[in-house]
Amino acid sequence: MKRKIIMAMLLCFTFSVVVGCAEKREEAQNLLNKYADANLHEMTTFAMDTVMLFTLYHEDGEEILTDAEQEIRRLESLFSVTIEDSEISKLNAHSGLDSVKLSGDTEEVLKRGKEIGELTNQAFDIAISPVVKAWGFTTDGEKHVPTQETLENLLPLTSIEDLVIDENASMAKLTKKGMAVDLGGIAKGYASDKIASLLKEKGVTSGLFSLGGNIGAIGTKPNGENWNVAIENPLNANDYVGLLSIQDCFVITSGGYQRYFEENGKRYHHIIDSNTGYPADKGLLSVTIISKDGAKADGLSTALFVMGLDQAVQLWRSSNDFEAVFVTEDGRVIATEGAASFFSFEGRDNDFKYETVER
Ligand code: ADP
Ligand code: MG
Repeated sequence: MKRKIIMAMLLCFTFSVVVGCAEKREEAQNLLNKYADANLHEMTTFAMDTVMLFTLYHEDGEEILTDAEQEIRRLESLFSVTIEDSEISKLNAHSGLDSVKLSGDTEEVLKRGKEIGELTNQAFDIAISPVVKAWGFTTDGEKHVPTQETLENLLPLTSIEDLVIDENASMAKLTKKGMAVDLGGIAKGYASDKIASLLKEKGVTSGLFSLGGNIGAIGTKPNGENWNVAIENPLNANDYVGLLSIQDCFVITSGGYQRYFEENGKRYHHIIDSNTGYPADKGLLSVTIISKDGAKADGLSTALFVMGLDQAVQLWRSSNDFEAVFVTEDGRVIATEGAASFFSFEGRDNDFKYETVER
């Protein structure tokens, strides 16, 4: 029982950052209702280097959550660059040498990564890893600004064209020695797709999960209302700029405000522009993508952050499978037309200005 209460507190605390608990009284009532509901099941776990939270309504919820956790761990064991015998680690270790055999999911996630790379003119680049490592972002070591010479040597190793996938043989190869793939910008989105499918297959019609802030919504709340998901204020983690009222989709945010270091008074974050080798610097604080396609939402949130507002809006205009909300360095919150229909702006107190963009 004690464990359950602590868990409830932890969940409420964490979800309140990402999920709108706008009114305190309603929140308290919800909490009471939650624990009166025998079908409610929750789980917190740590995987893929991040905290994952699950809430679902189903009479077999406990078993289903165990299955979901196993699925996450299975994907992690394939994709992780810190697990030495993962398929991605093997692919990287064989760079410039030979092809490695891939299981279905690794082949699929690499194909999705390449496809999003092509769609975004390589703003999304799963082969950016050598540069990300040079900044110290994926290793335990010190983070620091690499020399220009280091970056110039590494940038030629980051072209996604040099990741060659042989679909007939289910094999892949990195053609240049020193190349490496890093799925940090897509793995959680891909996992979200798999988890959502798994939950639905098991009969879940109402659930919400967060894979390190990457939100997946299954159906609606049990009472048929939409889920409320908050978009964090990039300048203040305890605040949000607005609420998305959603059902059955993914909401994934990328920004430079969570993982960064400072050197000589300047801030450097972990999303790298493969044109320069430097952290993307196109005037955005965060990009939130709303889509039925989790892998795409994850990849695009990173890519559009790299591209900057103008190019990002252009890409949105020529697509029909996602909506977006941008928070800019100059204090604007900008929703695409589709997103505007289910987004309520709440950033007035922080002096944010609200705009929408049309198709
Ligand atoms: P997070 O995983 O922190 O939520 P993102 O989805 O934006 O954020 O992914 C950022 C991660 O993706 C980085 O930590 C790095 O591993 C990798 N990455 C950095 N720059 C790029 C890029 N331009 N394209 C693809 N992946 C990138
Ligand atoms: Mg991403």
